[in-house]
Amino acid sequence: DVLINQIAAGEVVDRPASVVKELVENALDAGAGRVDIDLEEGGTRLIRIRDDGLGIEPDEVPLAVRRHATSKIASLDDLEGVATLGFRGEALPSIASVSRFALVSRTREAAHATAIEVDGGLVGELAPRAHPHGTTVEVRDLFYNVPARRKFLKAERTELSHIEDWLRQLALARPDVELRVSHNGKPSRRWKGERDLLSGERLHEALGPDFVRHSLRVEQGDVGDGRGLRLHGWIAEPSYNRASTDQQFLFVNGRAVRDRSVAHAVRQAYADVLFHGRHPAYVLFLSLDPRRVDVNVHPAKHEVRFRDGRLIYDFVYRTLQGVLAETRAG
Ligand code: ADP
Ligand code: MG
Repeated sequence: DVLINQIAAGEVVDRPASVVKELVENALDAGAGRVDIDLEEGGTRLIRIRDDGLGIEPDEVPLAVRRHATSKIASLDDLEGVATLGFRGEALPSIASVSRFALVSRTREAAHATAIEVDGGLVGELAPRAHPHGTTVEVRDLFYNVPARRKFLKAERTELSHIEDWLRQLALARPDVELRVSHNGKPSRRWKGERDLLSGERLHEALGPDFVRHSLRVEQGDVGDGRGLRLHGWIAEPSYNRASTDQQFLFVNGRAVRDRSVAHAVRQAYADVLFHGRHPAYVLFLSLDPRRVDVNVHPAKHEVRFRDGRLIYDFVYRTLQGVLAETRAG
């Protein structure tokens, strides 16, 4: 079983940033309003994620670290409509099989918290522990028992920047959640909770004042064909130059994804106006009926597959073309 988990870990976890992603997504699935992220040595030495979410029932704590014991998917129907970020019940057992892992959790009803440790996949005994409501997961020495993978970890700065890149995406996707980050014992970033991105502070922090100054508002609602399509966010004016794709953020139903087709639709809309940049900058949120998009293409869920790819393409292209055309007219 340890071996199976280690093999699965190969798909779920490739570096500290993917561990942070899985653990923080669990915290969000548990309804956390605040998540603390403590890192040491770019996450290779320590990743500690603490949340104020629902917590885990004492008798379910051992299940949380067992493979597929907690899968939220009861049928294929569920798989299509899945709203939570996690649903395979694979992340914790995988991560725990390639690290020194500890989980402490407490529900509102429980008199105290329950702790469990897993060392390289070997599950220890449950123990009572003092801990506020919510969950803390600690991952130390990632890949310590898989030298071939440990070898591929990059320098502290590189691993840290992968984590920060992902947290920036999250900060945009979930302005309502407060995030506190520390690295090597020093507070490094604090994203205060905001009701929505409109208040601007997070957008400002994540993309910088120049982007905000040169951005155009996008808001296109349901196209009225029953598919519930909506596109909103910000795109940069055509004069805002960008040498790389570092300011391209696309969220589909709240998840950060990379999608070539949508990226192409955006580029195409810019191609129709006088565009000076090499790469457009944007923060776009596309929402649609979850049954019309397959998030299950890749375990790390960076990619999605649309049922109506052509419709989505046209919708994005026409919406942005409209916004950009207005700048030319005005
Ligand atoms: P899943 O794919 O279900 O997210 P995980 O392996 O990531 O699988 O987590 C296993 C289970 O452990 C989750 O389904 C959830 O019930 C529980 N769990 C994990 N992390 C947390 C957390 N931070 N708060 C509450 N429950 C959690
Ligand atoms: Mg999960």
